[in-house]
Amino acid sequence: MDTLTNLPPGNIMLQILAQAREGTVVYTSRELHIGFINDAMLRIWHKEDSIKGQPLKDVAPEFNEFLPILDRVWQNGEVYTATDTLANININGVLTPTYFDFEYRPVLDADGKTYAIINTATDVTGRVLAWQLVHEKEAQAESLNEELTSANEELIAINEEYQSTNEELVETQQDLQQLYNKLNISETLFRNIFEQAPVGLAWLTGKEMVVEQVNAPMLKIWGRTANEIVGKPHREARPELEGQPIFDLLERVFATGDTHENTELKVWLKSGNGLREAYINSVYTAVKNNDGDITGVLIILDDVTEVIAERRRREVIEEQFRLTVESADMGSWYVDTHSRKLTATNRVKELFGFHPDDEMTLDEAIVQIREDYRDNIVEIFNAALSNGEKYDVEFPTVGYHDSKLRWVRAFGKLYPAEMDDAPQFSGLLMEITESKEDEARKNDFVAMVSHELKTPLTSAKAFVQMLAQKALKNGDDFTEGSLQKVDRQIEKMQTLIKGFLDIARMESGKINLDRQHFIMSDLVKECVEENRLFSQRHQISVKPCGPVQVYADRDKIGQVINNFLSNAIKYSPNGKQIVVSCFITDAGVLQVNVTDEGMGINPQDKTRLFDRFYRVESKHTKTISGFGIGLYLCAEIIRRHGGEVGVESEMGQGSTFYFRLPIG
Ligand code: ADP
Repeated sequence: MDTLTNLPPGNIMLQILAQAREGTVVYTSRELHIGFINDAMLRIWHKEDSIKGQPLKDVAPEFNEFLPILDRVWQNGEVYTATDTLANININGVLTPTYFDFEYRPVLDADGKTYAIINTATDVTGRVLAWQLVHEKEAQAESLNEELTSANEELIAINEEYQSTNEELVETQQDLQQLYNKLNISETLFRNIFEQAPVGLAWLTGKEMVVEQVNAPMLKIWGRTANEIVGKPHREARPELEGQPIFDLLERVFATGDTHENTELKVWLKSGNGLREAYINSVYTAVKNNDGDITGVLIILDDVTEVIAERRRREVIEEQFRLTVESADMGSWYVDTHSRKLTATNRVKELFGFHPDDEMTLDEAIVQIREDYRDNIVEIFNAALSNGEKYDVEFPTVGYHDSKLRWVRAFGKLYPAEMDDAPQFSGLLMEITESKEDEARKNDFVAMVSHELKTPLTSAKAFVQMLAQKALKNGDDFTEGSLQKVDRQIEKMQTLIKGFLDIARMESGKINLDRQHFIMSDLVKECVEENRLFSQRHQISVKPCGPVQVYADRDKIGQVINNFLSNAIKYSPNGKQIVVSCFITDAGVLQVNVTDEGMGINPQDKTRLFDRFYRVESKHTKTISGFGIGLYLCAEIIRRHGGEVGVESEMGQGSTFYFRLPIG
């Protein structure tokens, strides 16, 4: 701001000249076009304002005798001064002799060439006439001596006055020259700043606040074109502001010279044919001339409507979010990643067994996570923290004060840094103890029922097989065939029951991994041999990985490979080749792939295949029986080994199901 108001912009400069007491005219060409003339000079010359812009010889032929001098000044670039010089002033058609002290001062450019002449003049007729009077009086009789003396005294007084005026004039002229030089630079600078500023700028002049200059961003904010407003008093140019505080504020700045700032001021601005609600930040600064008089007001303005609208939207969303979180009895928390400071709601503290007024640090919270889950959860949090991924985990806590066991679900992510803030690791926490208990009860029930079903089914299967053998011996083909079918149905039921039992055990955490060291290729070969028996149509080949050893539950990993293989057979009725390959990845883990040429999987189904009871609904799968628990169990088994499962597939081309396990 200060730098702008300190600049003497062109118009301020001209205002100073305009108000000078000495007659001043600026010729801006060798033809002596009148670029500027102040009121004092117009009065001296007895001319109208309309002579501006015209050559001197056209508008004041009575001064023709001075033209050669002016031309010389233009050419030589030297100052010409004269005193007590007679010139005839045309007063209403009558040439009236008048005496002047005057100066022609050339204004030179950087190359020393004249590009303007400043002509200042003072009417000294009074003084000259006084001198003439002196001479006349001297020649007259002695009797007039007294009169002469008084005239003389008067003359001396006048002379002194003129003398000091002359000195002032010279000083002013020097100042003018300096200002003029500065003006050239500052005007360009000022204009550039004005036009290129990214904020709205407008310059209003005079008490009327005439819109002198306004830049493009300002026109856009005001909803106006330059033609509509430049050169007009601000009040007239923008009637839409009537009844709003702007005019009064500007007038106060003009009257007092005090700078005024608006912060997020609500205003109605023109927009198309109507008005729009806008919020603005603005500064109004009084512009002063060199005498310190206020000549106008500079407006700097920024339209912050969008920023505020965005903030409002965010506040509403945050409020809705807060209400949702509270009504769902959730807790929210965040960690400043620089300081590791944890900020948590009371509900979060409660879920870790702390009281609302307790301080709870991040480390203190972590200690309350049940020991068997703690390392794993910390690892997941750290991973989310370093790669910015989402996390969604369930874990039990043991209350700090009450030692109560609570199950919680935590989800959220790392939010990138905003402005100067550190990135924030945050999320929500909800209690799931009840649903965990329900699930446990359900699992126990399923486990019990499945277990109870297993025994009668096993004996039913034994009887069916015995009867089938008997029928075979008796040559009763129909009975034998029917019993075979019953046997297959019983087998399906057994598989289903085994699956239910596995799920129930897995989910209640009752499944234990019986880890041992074994060579993966051997297990792969065994599984492939087993599955070859089930399908004559498919060719199952193996690409072994050498004697790579893993430390895992051999039976359960076998169950995973078998599941992948039986699915590959089931879901590629028209495919031929099934390839099982085994290799070490770039990341140094062991990967086993089962690739088929089957029906493939839709991208949208891919992520859900490993969910419990998820089956793809399509005309191809309709006729293929299954329960949607195989892949879920595979995923759980591999996850418990610290590995991962996945699938790559293309519709109609085939699929590759894989798992990865650490070597060792
Ligand atoms: P199930 O085979 O008993 O339905 P799974 O959990 O083993 O259950 O598989 C879930 C679903 O994944 C299947 O219903 C099937 O739609 C799809 N799927 C599994 N393996 C393949 C495969 N190799 N090719 C195409 N789809 C498959």
